[in-house]
Amino acid sequence: MSSAKLSVTFLGTSSAAPTNVRGLPAIAVRREGEVILMDCGEGVQRQILANSIGLGKDMTILITHLHGDHVAGILGLLQTMSLAQRRKPVDIVGPAGLMRWLEVTSELLNFGLTFPIRFTAVRPGVVLRTTEFRVKATRAVHSVEAFSYIVEEKDRPGVFHPDRAKALGVPEGRQWSALQKGRSVTVGRRNIPSSAVTGPPRPGRRIGYSGDTRPSPRLARFFEGCDLLIFDSTFRGSDEDKALERKHSTCVEAAELAKRAGVRRLALTHFSARYADVAPLLKEAKKVFPDTVAASDGLTLVVDYPPA
Ligand SMILES: [Zn+2]
Repeated sequence: MSSAKLSVTFLGTSSAAPTNVRGLPAIAVRREGEVILMDCGEGVQRQILANSIGLGKDMTILITHLHGDHVAGILGLLQTMSLAQRRKPVDIVGPAGLMRWLEVTSELLNFGLTFPIRFTAVRPGVVLRTTEFRVKATRAVHSVEAFSYIVEEKDRPGVFHPDRAKALGVPEGRQWSALQKGRSVTVGRRNIPSSAVTGPPRPGRRIGYSGDTRPSPRLARFFEGCDLLIFDSTFRGSDEDKALERKHSTCVEAAELAKRAGVRRLALTHFSARYADVAPLLKEAKKVFPDTVAASDGLTLVVDYPPA
């Protein structure tokens, strides 16, 4: 059965300070015509253009916490969209203070938007349903109130059984494809529901994003079974004291949590500018959790369904 492509593009993979090769935190999740941006570091709109993502798409912005490096890019992004005469609304999910900050700033800078913002104050649980996704949140452990997110593709119809469709007299072609997509068809005077020829619905693919955080048992439960987990990897293992002090994680802690949560793949991101080369961090993480990649600006990962 054909399925829509689900991908993740890293737009910025540094921590609080950018480097010559890494921008401030921002990640784009894409499926069909929809984009979910997770955090919005400065210059995010240029990164969106550089990666051919398009500013006119159906867009949702998820903000993990109100630290400048994760949020200051929203203003420029919204302004650039307005200059392009965007009309479609933008959904924004984040800590309650975010909307106030946006309102005050747009008033002081005297800029109006050409499109509406639909704001949702984040709280644990399902925070938003879009055309393609369900967005869930839980509390992270950082120096300010912070959240982690899961972007979850909606359930898809179960496995299609051609033999059952044939036995029920459904002609191959358009009606088969309708049944595969979860719709019912009419053959003669009989109504045949999709469930008569397909297995039970299968869960969609899930992408987890920690934002800035210490590892925690709650996060290990929250991210259980994710197809891709993107986790705070600010420091290397030997700098754990710094991670503790600044409420971040090391690459080793990220890998340990990925292992505990039984995720399929781990992407390390949010690297401290002190590491010119993150290869040693990747190596340390892989010792604990082999299916690990180190994110870099412009890297796209395609998230496949687990093997049947
Ligand atoms: Zn940060």
